[in-house]
Amino acid sequence: MDLYTPEFVHCNGEKFRVYLTHEEIQDRVKKIGQKISNDFYDRHPIFIGVLNGSFIFLSDLMRYVHIPCEVDFLKLSSYGDEKVSSGQVTELKEIDADIRGRHVILVEDIVDTGLSMKFLIEKLKRSHPASLTSVSLLHKSDQTQHNVQLDYVGFRIPSLFVLGYGLDFAQEGRNLAQIYIIDKKVPDN
Ligand code: 5GP
Repeated sequence: MDLYTPEFVHCNGEKFRVYLTHEEIQDRVKKIGQKISNDFYDRHPIFIGVLNGSFIFLSDLMRYVHIPCEVDFLKLSSYGDEKVSSGQVTELKEIDADIRGRHVILVEDIVDTGLSMKFLIEKLKRSHPASLTSVSLLHKSDQTQHNVQLDYVGFRIPSLFVLGYGLDFAQEGRNLAQIYIIDKKVPDN
């Protein structure tokens, strides 16, 4: 497949550089998929993807999961055109599936402050799933203010805005096959 993988990309007036390559992402997503296959082999889980950002991660992840499973989606409001969170979460689309008694795997693209994940976990728990497991491809752990349990995390990343592999900047950049970070000095960990 001929993927969109430039070394640098300009998006809405900002310059971004590669932070995680296609190979690094695929390798990690495959490992998470294998782990989920083992952990849920007899549980017929349902993946709930959080739109829009998780659609590429979830589509790759599910293809690395080799057990029977289902998928559904919900949608939250995004950052809009900004690079910082508004601090408010609004639900724009509900799931269609009945998750009572089901093993639910909630799939996010990125956890930043943790507000969205906390909101989603509390909301889904009210539907009485048999279990609720959280997955996030990326985690800005230094930014996270809300106490959320993340069961599977792809990569811990610095507190800088990232783009690509489903993540947008003012709706652009989702089609990039790698993850890009704003081209400023990355702080030492
Ligand atoms: P939180 O509620 O944890 O503060 O933010 C989670 C949501 O904010 C993510 O699902 C994602 O939509 C958005 N977000 C957080 N950080 C970034 C980022 O660096 N880049 C992009 N494109 N979206 C982000």
